Amino acid sequence: NSELVQRLEETIENIPDFPKPGIQFKDITPIFLDPKLYEEVIADLANFSRGKVDAVCGIESRGYLFGIAIAVALEVPFILIRKKGKLPPPFVSEKYDLEYGSAEIEMRIGQLKPGQRVLVHDDLLATGGTTEAAAKLVEKQGAKVAQFSFLIGLKDLLGEQKLAQFKVPVHSILEY
Ligand code: 5GP
Repeated sequence: NSELVQRLEETIENIPDFPKPGIQFKDITPIFLDPKLYEEVIADLANFSRGKVDAVCGIESRGYLFGIAIAVALEVPFILIRKKGKLPPPFVSEKYDLEYGSAEIEMRIGQLKPGQRVLVHDDLLATGGTTEAAAKLVEKQGAKVAQFSFLIGLKDLLGEQKLAQFKVPVHSILEY
């Protein structure tokens, strides 16, 4: 869908040296100023997953902005993956490494059902550390990671290679 790719490239803003010197931050928020474009993004992501998943898991917080709409379009449940300390028990946790230090994400127990085929969605794939941890949370629930989707994949950071261990399709609408 090259027209959608082109419109997204024109809409997403590159912010140099944010949040740290040397990092090019991709700001996706201008997409929400254009409801038609947002609809087309959701249609693209929903088409990728239609008939292939029983639930969608979205990663806090930008993964919620598209993940819920994908789940509604597919008429399947949406489950939140949150940063540490936000969810009431019971929940499962997974630690992962950041460039400096580590982080932890969590998911409620019981919302995802054993055996469900799951789409793990986030706005952007960089090193893949966040998404890999999210996929492990899905597996800890006895569910099956069926697909990954993103608006943006940053090729140089090798996130797709990190996700290859799950042996499932990975879709990014655009790649940089
Ligand atoms: P990873 O764990 O793959 O290295 O980093 C991906 C996570 O960082 C995602 O949750 C994503 O929202 C966030 N992230 C990293 N860089 C950017 C960026 O340039 N733009 C946006 N919107 N999110 C980013």
